Amino acid sequence: MKVFGLKIIFISVIVVISTFILSHFKLLDRFELTTLDYRFKLRPQKKGSPQIAIVEIAEDSIQQIGRWPWSRDWHAELIDILTLYKAKIIDIDILFSEKSEEPIDNFLASAIKRANNVYLPFVFERSRGEIRRIESLPVFYANIKGTGYINVLPDEDGVIRRIEFFKEYQGKTYYHIGFKIACDYLGVKEEDIQIYPKRFIELKNTSIGNIKIPLDEQNRTILNWPGKWEKTFKHFSFVDIIVSHQQVKEGMKPRINLQEFKDKICLVGLTAVGLIDIKPIPLETLYPALGVHACIIDNILRKDFIRDLGRFYKNLAIIFCSLLVGMIFLLIKKPIKFALLTLALATGYCLLVVFLFNTKGLWLNLIYPLFSLTLAYTSMTLYSQIVSALEKARLYKLAITDSLTGVYVRGHFNLLLDAKIQEARRSQQRLSIAMLDIDHFKSFNDTYGHQTGDFILKEVAAICKSATRGWDVLARYGGEEFVLMLPNTDLKGAKMLAERIRALIEKHVFIDNNNMSYRVNISLGVADLEEQDTRETLVNKADAALYLAKRTGRNKVCDWQECQEDKKENP
Ligand code: GH3
Ligand code: MG
Ligand code: MG
Repeated sequence: MKVFGLKIIFISVIVVISTFILSHFKLLDRFELTTLDYRFKLRPQKKGSPQIAIVEIAEDSIQQIGRWPWSRDWHAELIDILTLYKAKIIDIDILFSEKSEEPIDNFLASAIKRANNVYLPFVFERSRGEIRRIESLPVFYANIKGTGYINVLPDEDGVIRRIEFFKEYQGKTYYHIGFKIACDYLGVKEEDIQIYPKRFIELKNTSIGNIKIPLDEQNRTILNWPGKWEKTFKHFSFVDIIVSHQQVKEGMKPRINLQEFKDKICLVGLTAVGLIDIKPIPLETLYPALGVHACIIDNILRKDFIRDLGRFYKNLAIIFCSLLVGMIFLLIKKPIKFALLTLALATGYCLLVVFLFNTKGLWLNLIYPLFSLTLAYTSMTLYSQIVSALEKARLYKLAITDSLTGVYVRGHFNLLLDAKIQEARRSQQRLSIAMLDIDHFKSFNDTYGHQTGDFILKEVAAICKSATRGWDVLARYGGEEFVLMLPNTDLKGAKMLAERIRALIEKHVFIDNNNMSYRVNISLGVADLEEQDTRETLVNKADAALYLAKRTGRNKVCDWQECQEDKKENP
């Protein structure tokens, strides 16, 4: 039991090490990300920050205003309207990087200036090994409230899951525009942003207290998607705003209530499919870039982040799962119960992972611990199968061999003989058997003791074995009686072999451990298989021949034909 327990611990350790290796080479990381996506999908959707208003340039606006790109005075007008209705921040997610007609550009530039709360983005672009900034024309930039990059780097599978909130470039720190807007909205000054690389960003003295934003090993932050695009945040259509403003001016009831923009962070951008690249996020396959800004701002305003529990907890869970399966295995002997309990453990772990995600926003690794659990389960099941197969084989061997002489027992011999008789019939081969009995063994035992008798029995069996061919079968048929099955052998051949064995025993000097020497003789009866014979009749024939040998002087070989002649002579 103790050795068995040690072996199970050994298996557990091997499982843990293999899982660590897999985890080191990130072989299952892709699957882990898929499970993270499922955690988002399983979680009840959130409403999203009420401070955020999305102004979409979607298909309806394109249809009513015209082909993209629009004349820039449309944007100027929107900015004016949002300013009129006291929007707190206006983020226009469009790059006005090329010159258009000058008066129009001046319109937009002066609308930006009047609003005094407009944010315009820029993009870091890598060309010919150099990183450069692509941004709107200086005329627009002159009076913006702030800027930030809008670069997004999806994971290998194309899904956006994490964003760099800051980038160090040429000794300067740049911020993502969403992060920048959230900081400004909360009144965070540059010096209140403390970055602890690979750990967290701390925003001090914000209007809602200190905020800690988790960072992963590459200084990225996992986005905590509140919900699907359509269902989260308040959405407005660009064209509806323009029309509503016109309706208000004309004293009509507006399409939308423009008062809603008061104190809002307005995110303006393209969402029409086909005009911008729309990437997948864990919750849905089409999500506009504008949503990424919204998500970043939302997470910071709600102080609601996903924190990767990281390598330490992952490794702990891997060890825990493997060892626990080992313990269950040691305690529970029944395979069905073992399987059910392992399944329960796996389910429990999944529930824990989902619970931590839903209630605390904690990302505990699921795939690697589950892998170690499965590997531990399969290797232990396999191990126990092998052990029990070996045990069965051992017991079987024990059951079919005679413990004293190491040759087959009678029962097994009978099975082999039955099979051989059938085979010999089918393939018309000869088959003979020889019965062998030690002469006057009772008095030998009486004279030298039972132990010496045992020693003789063992030696006789060994001599018989060595005198026969590999496919001949020797068995102990009774106390001091042996039987030999001789395939492919006719009566004449069987008799010759029997005679050889008899002579060997007769010549042999048995010397025991006490250096005492003994001699014994044996008698043998042989018979061959005939048309009408069954196992019983074949054995009886050999028995009768043995009996004749005993009766006619011992230490000799008789065959069953001699037996029949004898019967005729002495009826
Ligand atoms: P025979 O020449 O007619 O065969 O005389 P026998 O004395 O050999 O025949 P019998 O059948 O009367 O006696 C068989 C003896 O074999 C009885 C028993 O003492 C001995 N014997 C049977 N099995 C064992 C065994 O496992 N160990 C030992 N030491 N003796 C055994
Ligand atoms: Mg005997
Ligand atoms: Mg006997």
